[in-house]
Amino acid sequence: MDLIKKIFDAGVVGAGGAGFPTHIKLNCSVEYLIANGAECEPLLETDKYLMRCESKKIIKAMEEVAKKIQAKKLIIGLKKKYKEEIKALSKTIEELNSEVELFLLDNFYPAGDEHILVYEITKKSIPAGGIPLDVGVVVSNVGTLVNIFDAINEKPVVDKYVTVIGEIRNPCILKVPIGISIEKCIEAAGGSLINDYAVILGGPMMGKVIYKKQIKKEFITKTIGSLILLPKNHYIIGRKELSIKHIVSRAKTACIQCSMCTDMCPRNLIGHKIRPHRIMRSIGIAKGDEKIFMEALICCECGVCELYACPMGLSPRSMNGYIKNELRNKGIKYQKEQEKTIAKEIREYRKIPVDRLISRLGLTKYKGNKVIGPFEVKAHRVCISLSQSIGRPANPVVSIGDIVSRGQLIGEVKMGELGANVHSSIDGKVCEISDYVVIRSENDEVIS
Ligand code: SF4
Ligand code: SF4
Repeated sequence: MDLIKKIFDAGVVGAGGAGFPTHIKLNCSVEYLIANGAECEPLLETDKYLMRCESKKIIKAMEEVAKKIQAKKLIIGLKKKYKEEIKALSKTIEELNSEVELFLLDNFYPAGDEHILVYEITKKSIPAGGIPLDVGVVVSNVGTLVNIFDAINEKPVVDKYVTVIGEIRNPCILKVPIGISIEKCIEAAGGSLINDYAVILGGPMMGKVIYKKQIKKEFITKTIGSLILLPKNHYIIGRKELSIKHIVSRAKTACIQCSMCTDMCPRNLIGHKIRPHRIMRSIGIAKGDEKIFMEALICCECGVCELYACPMGLSPRSMNGYIKNELRNKGIKYQKEQEKTIAKEIREYRKIPVDRLISRLGLTKYKGNKVIGPFEVKAHRVCISLSQSIGRPANPVVSIGDIVSRGQLIGEVKMGELGANVHSSIDGKVCEISDYVVIRSENDEVIS
């Protein structure tokens, strides 16, 4: 069977972020295939685990994908400091006599942002509003490649590796069925060390915050690769919970127009016309400048401006996120830049060292935590979103009362649609269908 069809059938989406359907991304022909193993957000361990322990899957999947997209250069981008991962990957490359090469990055944030990674490896800047394909590149997260390998062997995406760290008894990596609750993941990692906590789903810079009362109602999806438990009054949680009203009023009164947010912006440094300080100024004007607001559409929401650069503790990233939504709701899109994008020479000196970022974020306490595992967690109830990715949700193909088995298709999209198939992650009975399919089994969860 054709590779794209297998990937489509298995419901593979980008495992590292927005969840773009992989069968659509790979329908192209390019020069480079880049595996993203940068894992640049502080504290995360999942991708490093995969590079150490699933290196064969990653490299074999790269070779298959490269044949399909006719890529001649196959490169894994990871950090120089990942010694064990470099060793494991190099050994596998040698054993398989593979053409895959390693590109070693410095330890800076956001090395794993697609635009930054592509620039580091190819020295080509993707135009603002564009995608890696515009410069002849496909980027795939290492977790996605593991899923592609499984898809080739006709195994759908039903499990997820998740790092659980922070105020947790046993910082660890868990292998969990998709749809398991966040509460069960926390329990499986030994429970929280504190009473009053919040959880970041994803990395500390870009992840979403949920509170203790929500952990029963939030579930692991194909794109959540980490849970970070932090005290509810932690600096990061406080910054992420500000209301847009509060953010706007502080922008109007406290922005000193120092332009540090723009000077440190990683996308500005690779040559994109994004100037968060001008957006902040425009917010302060009675009738904001629509042209300046358009720049928010090319913000990748990396958080450098608000969690690292701004000396006044303001929130340009959140402001951009808000403006972006408003513009998108009006159907306004950014027109891809046609001029050649040229990175700034000063960029090399403005990369943010991850250790300094960790200290700025107040995460030093968790930096040296030994992360154990992986531990496999089984669930007796899963709540699987039909919309795991960008695009349209899958149509349910099961009914309430149906008995399903692990790996069985429960939601489908049509080939070519921007969406992904969804499969049951446990054996059980369908007991609810809405935006989610809820499946229960009789077995209690077991950690092995
Ligand atoms: S860094 Fe902060 S204070 Fe300076 S221009 Fe940007 S938002 Fe304003
Ligand atoms: S979040 Fe801030 S630093 Fe990051 S791309 Fe957007 S404007 Fe630039």
